[in-house]
Amino acid sequence: MSGSQGDRQLSVETYAVQGTREHDPETGAVIPSIDVTTTYLRDPDNGYSRGFVYGRADNATVRRCEDVITRLEGGRNTLVYGSGMAAATTFFLALERPAHVIAPNVMYWSLRNWLMNDAASHGLTVSFVDATDTGAIKEAIRPGQTKAIWLETPANPLWGISDISMVSDAAHAVGAVVGVDATTASPVLMNPLSLGADVVMHSATKYLNGHSDVVAGSLTFAASNETQPIEDRARSHRLSLGSILGSFEASLLLRGLRTLFVRVRAQTASALTIANHFDEHAAIEAVLYPGLPTAPGHTLAKSQMPGGFGGMLSIRCRGGIDHAITTAARVQVWTRATSLGGVESLIEHRASVEGAGTPCPDDLLRLSVGLEPAEDLIADLEHALAR
Ligand SMILES: *Cc1c(COP(=O)(O)O)cnc(C)c1O
Repeated sequence: MSGSQGDRQLSVETYAVQGTREHDPETGAVIPSIDVTTTYLRDPDNGYSRGFVYGRADNATVRRCEDVITRLEGGRNTLVYGSGMAAATTFFLALERPAHVIAPNVMYWSLRNWLMNDAASHGLTVSFVDATDTGAIKEAIRPGQTKAIWLETPANPLWGISDISMVSDAAHAVGAVVGVDATTASPVLMNPLSLGADVVMHSATKYLNGHSDVVAGSLTFAASNETQPIEDRARSHRLSLGSILGSFEASLLLRGLRTLFVRVRAQTASALTIANHFDEHAAIEAVLYPGLPTAPGHTLAKSQMPGGFGGMLSIRCRGGIDHAITTAARVQVWTRATSLGGVESLIEHRASVEGAGTPCPDDLLRLSVGLEPAEDLIADLEHALAR
């Protein structure tokens, strides 16, 4: 596999489209076969010169996904897991513990629950802060104890923006690492490692796969001495907990990655059209979208997400929770379901999913913009919002 044409480096988009650009040496197959084996041949000298031993440790299809994601994120290595939650919790379990960590008040709900309820039993003390406020993060740092700062940006479901570069500087000054859940931005729009973060996590269930038919997650490690022990422990945890992605799922994920750039660009353009259309709409209290110039994180998002503001937005219905739930009930083009990042547009009453203690307002509908034309999505939502 060659990484250049003469002196010209290929863009990462080409790797996404072509997989790792390898063709099967035996058959010339353009699409790699799925590596279904659980076990690999040992050499006569008792070694494993090809680097594969057993399916719980590694797998050729999994490794192909990892190579593509590593290129997309500009990292040293990627590990893929059986879900985004497996990847995210592994990040925390791969820290040297006991550890103090800082996490956002507003973030992906299941991970926040794990940090609130289970992390302590794993030797983690967690401070939750307003992660859109770098000053609040700095104040929460306990020098000598804080081992990691976790960011999610844009953050579910209010789409606040955290300053990856400033937070990384503050973390590195005290020897802590920064992990970023970049699921909603995707590597098309934002590269946390290039902004100074140490580890980037994706729920590959969402944009990376993009077709709502695979649950998967990834961790990509920046090329630095600080991340090497975290990567080693994350790999060792994957082996001992058995959380590696299956090869059939990895093959679907590779297929999804081929269209990642065109999907995310189209979804981002539609989301901006929809946000602009409903901004200041009579039935809507507020549109939450970092692409609107009035959004609190707009200026930061513009510099941190050079490719655009993403396909996720939320609307707050003027008639409160009842209006939100009836609106979700009346849509016909949008699909009423949780999750995000697929080709079909989804709408969800988020507070119902998150339950008691959520920072999510009860009049909020979370929208994941898919690939249907924006006109169809706007007309459907207009109809559903009418009271
Ligand atoms: C879905 C999601 C997760 C969890 O990923 P799973 O693949 O569902 O385990 C984590 N973070 C964000 C932002 C998500 O949207």
